[in-house]
Amino acid sequence: MDIASKNEIWIPISEIGIQTFCEVQLKFIWKGVKIKTKKMVNGSLIHYEKFKKFERQTRGLESVEIINAIRRAIKKRERFVGREIFIKSPTFRLIGRVDAIEIGPEGIVIIDDKPIEYPFLSAKSQVAAYSLAFKDKYRPPLDIYMMIKNRDKGIIVWKDVFSEEWFSFIIEKINRIYELILGKRNFEPTSNPKKCLSCCYRNFCKSII
Ligand code: SF4
Repeated sequence: MDIASKNEIWIPISEIGIQTFCEVQLKFIWKGVKIKTKKMVNGSLIHYEKFKKFERQTRGLESVEIINAIRRAIKKRERFVGREIFIKSPTFRLIGRVDAIEIGPEGIVIIDDKPIEYPFLSAKSQVAAYSLAFKDKYRPPLDIYMMIKNRDKGIIVWKDVFSEEWFSFIIEKINRIYELILGKRNFEPTSNPKKCLSCCYRNFCKSII
């Protein structure tokens, strides 16, 4: 959680995925207990290298604002791709950085690279929240698709359209996070012991199962 100037609250989109995984993790993070495992540090490095490779591959190409890319995709059927794109939803007060976005006449694809082979709900929630933020910011007259790719193999792990159902699902997540911020309810631990097994807070979490 990030309290910005004027005491305005902005929710980092990664926290939507964490809330879906286990709310007790959010409690630790908001208290300032942030654990960076070797795996996480390695993941950041891989993302950075992917971005550098993308920069080299696209050097010399035209740089286009997202809003213009959407217009040109519709009018001229052009295609655009970008990486590490900062996104901010003014209505829902979400902020985040999307791994990759593709814009074309058939729609917009919001892509998250993850080191996973299976589309866990926490991972899907994060992409859905990016999609909500994108829709809110740019209001594109095109369908938005959500995609999770395996970070290392580049294969598609999951793809779905950002539907009304996903919209409602993420709004509920945002509301739950605000309730936690305002102290209106308790942090709910996961009921899945497998999550605790892989959790970096397991050594001092009293809710561990
Ligand atoms: S150990 Fe289990 S209950 Fe505790 S924060 Fe981790 S996932 Fe949640």
